[in-house]
Amino acid sequence: MRTKQQALFIIFGGTGDLAKRKLYPALFELYRKGILSEHFAVIGTARRPWSDEHYQTVVRNSVSADDQQQVNEFSKHFCYQSHNVNDTKHYVTLKKLAERLDQKFKIGGNRLFYLAMSPRFFGTIAGHLKSQKIVTADGYNRMIVEKPFGRDFKSANELNQAIGQYFAEKDVFRIDHYLGKEMVQNIFALRFGNNIFRSLWNSRYIDNIQITLSESLGVEERAGYYETAGALRDMVQNHILQIVSLLTMNMPASYSETDIRREKICALKALKVYQPQEVKQNFVRAQYVAANGLKGYRQEDQIDPQSQTETFAAGKIFVENENFSNVPIYIRTGKRLQTKATRIDIIFKAVPGNIFTTQQLADNILTIKVEPEGEISLQVNTKKVGQGYQLQQQQFNLFPADKHQLIPEAYEKLLADALVGDATNFTHWEEVAYSWKFVDAVRHAWDQQKAALATYPCGSMGPKQADQLLAADGRHWIFN
Ligand code: NAD
Repeated sequence: MRTKQQALFIIFGGTGDLAKRKLYPALFELYRKGILSEHFAVIGTARRPWSDEHYQTVVRNSVSADDQQQVNEFSKHFCYQSHNVNDTKHYVTLKKLAERLDQKFKIGGNRLFYLAMSPRFFGTIAGHLKSQKIVTADGYNRMIVEKPFGRDFKSANELNQAIGQYFAEKDVFRIDHYLGKEMVQNIFALRFGNNIFRSLWNSRYIDNIQITLSESLGVEERAGYYETAGALRDMVQNHILQIVSLLTMNMPASYSETDIRREKICALKALKVYQPQEVKQNFVRAQYVAANGLKGYRQEDQIDPQSQTETFAAGKIFVENENFSNVPIYIRTGKRLQTKATRIDIIFKAVPGNIFTTQQLADNILTIKVEPEGEISLQVNTKKVGQGYQLQQQQFNLFPADKHQLIPEAYEKLLADALVGDATNFTHWEEVAYSWKFVDAVRHAWDQQKAALATYPCGSMGPKQADQLLAADGRHWIFN
């Protein structure tokens, strides 16, 4: 149970999509649960000249609740300041407003700076917060930053140094919202809380791992950003490699931020970084083309009709640590796929010496469905009821949350963690660095090869090359 917290949030990008869709609803949930109560305030800043009243209306409209009075009370904790992040004068006004709210709500100097805007502004904001003394001496000062954290190792390193001049690593909370998802957090309980999995979690028993993050939507409003990023940067560098680290890290000495992060860093450091020729063999990139009444990527608004940006990436990767060096991890992600789903399949090795000589044994597969369902299942072989001895495949299905239980949104949990200074579910700089080094090698090979992109029709599960990647190893995607 989390206790009541005192904090002033300053949200840079307070008029933006992320703030409205994710941050305000998450803050409201914390308020509804009493984690935030009387001693908190929020300053929203952005360029638009909004009044406090208008801002509070926007905040009220972005949360849905039955108790309108509670929503009204909540919104009274919000103030707006029109602010150009490059203009030093605005930080002087911001400081005065922050001090006034700190006193009014008796906050005691705790500040969380949420940077919900383009990373190119992170350095200047961090510098101004220090130089204009918006960081306080009597409370904590934490900075929460959104993805993307750079577009390659070099730019991420520059960004990190720009922030690091003013904020210590322990005070920088890099969001990867997948780390706030219940079923991603469940990987830990499964792996380290059950001897049946803990003792089997290695290359002796695991044949391969498959991770799919599929989206059914296209680029929507993010076309400008996506065209410069692509699936590899947008999904693999962060979300997929974070899941890989949780699946392959060694057991930490304790369930604590320091020990967990240390092992995650080691797992990402152990990623096999490919040479260009290996990238060709082990990675597939593709773009969606028109089908099922949907436009192709190159026909989308703001997209170059000759675009070479990949909207799908699949790969076979290896984490070369003690337990996993020979276990292929197949990953894939893409837009405009058949369905929206995040799913992990752990495929165990076949039983050595099948005594049921005339019957094939199905693989034991542990499946973690992160979304939409939130389900864990285990495929096993059992005897068919009746005469003779026939085998059948069956599933143990587990739903950690019952249908009526409200699962907290990732942002709600991550904000609650940041309030108590727990960075376990945020990415450490070294994790980011190793992930970029891996991704840069793939990107570099793609840029050199200039080979035509593969294509896949909207509404499919990706290009046939992604199936061939597994077929070449005598395997197939379990989720299809
Ligand atoms: P957005 O374009 O909707 O909002 C950007 C905000 O920044 C606006 O409030 C705008 O007024 C403000 N802004 C821009 N230039 C400014 C300046 N010079 N001075 C002051 N304010 C300025 O973007 P978004 O979708 O809310 O995303 C914000 C950040 O979060 C981005 O880095 C994005 O990559 C990241 N992100 C967004 C989502 C999402 O679902 N929207 C998901 C993951 C990560």
